[in-house]
Amino acid sequence: MKNKEWDQLYVNGTLCTLDPADSSFGLIKDGALAIKDNLIAWLGKRSDLPADYSSEVEINLNQQVLTPGLIDCHTHLVYAGNRADEFEKRLNGATYEEIAKSGGGILSTVKATRQASFDELLEQTIPRAKQLKESGVTTVEIKSGYGLDFDSEIKILKVAKKIGELLGLRVKTTFLGAHSIPPEFKNRAEDYINFLCAEMIPVIANEKLADFVDVFSEKIAFNLEQTKKIFECASEYGLGIKCHAEQLSNIGATELAARFKAVSVDHLEFLDEDGVKAIAKSGTTAVLLPGAFYFLREQQLPPIDLLRKHEVPIAIATDCNPGTSPVTSLTLIMNMACTLFRLTPLEALRGVTINAAKALGMENKIGSLEVGKIADVAIWDIRHPAELSYSIGFRSSST
Ligand SMILES: [Zn+2]
Repeated sequence: MKNKEWDQLYVNGTLCTLDPADSSFGLIKDGALAIKDNLIAWLGKRSDLPADYSSEVEINLNQQVLTPGLIDCHTHLVYAGNRADEFEKRLNGATYEEIAKSGGGILSTVKATRQASFDELLEQTIPRAKQLKESGVTTVEIKSGYGLDFDSEIKILKVAKKIGELLGLRVKTTFLGAHSIPPEFKNRAEDYINFLCAEMIPVIANEKLADFVDVFSEKIAFNLEQTKKIFECASEYGLGIKCHAEQLSNIGATELAARFKAVSVDHLEFLDEDGVKAIAKSGTTAVLLPGAFYFLREQQLPPIDLLRKHEVPIAIATDCNPGTSPVTSLTLIMNMACTLFRLTPLEALRGVTINAAKALGMENKIGSLEVGKIADVAIWDIRHPAELSYSIGFRSSST
């Protein structure tokens, strides 16, 4: 029978399906998973394998655990330089003001990223992408936002796509021109927003350089009116919407994003119940970023119980960036989500698989082991998937 001629078959391991129909990890002990044309063709107990199957390759999992490939749904992976000097200065007693005056902060990364050539930027980003891959990641979202001018933003998005090709990672790109106001537009935020809407978003949409548009909506960044203009423009060009919202204060960005049917709102430490209700209604995923919470030594926890109460899907991500979350291990983030935010290991794993897929609008294709989905898998030398959250930091996998 033709449909049982598989390309690849995994046997003798535990499958962690995360099938949404199962209220737990969806474990199948002594399972088997077959792949045909890069899609999951069959999965179940090994003893239930059809009698007439054949497979080109058979892989013995040796009792290891096979999960869906992990998804890092919020990163700023492409940047030049780093901010270790700033980190050191701060720990030696310098204030944020002093650091800003000496040219530190986000604009120092913007400067370095603008100066870097395409190849230099690629070369500096590859190690970070490799580390993510080693922590089980098969899909990564990458935002622009350290160029803040036409050529540099385009360069970042192209580097992001190239990373995917070179490393065999699925990359989804997000245009975050509204990350910060560049020096050329100092005190002219409106002009900068108009530039993004008139000159950048149309080109980015037409050249298919980004899947989503994101805004850092915050008292210290872009206000609600400016955020709305970007969302309107992105919607007009058919791009999906994401939002850095309610990280440092509550300005209502989440409710605005919900009105635009955003796929995700990210950070959310200061989100209130009205905001939670709004995203529950709009089907928006809440993306929590414990790395930035940890690095900034924040105190305000995101409203986890309210998100649970209103059944909002919760994703977690590295937020890999040089200023507030220089982390390239998604399993470390799973541990942080459990220790700092009190997520359960099941919630943490869903947060980097099926719910992270939702945060990218890809839940029908990736994020769980189900027949017909893309065969992205990660194989772990563990006995139970809770170990992924329990171990602090390093845990390598093969994907
Ligand atoms: Zn971010």
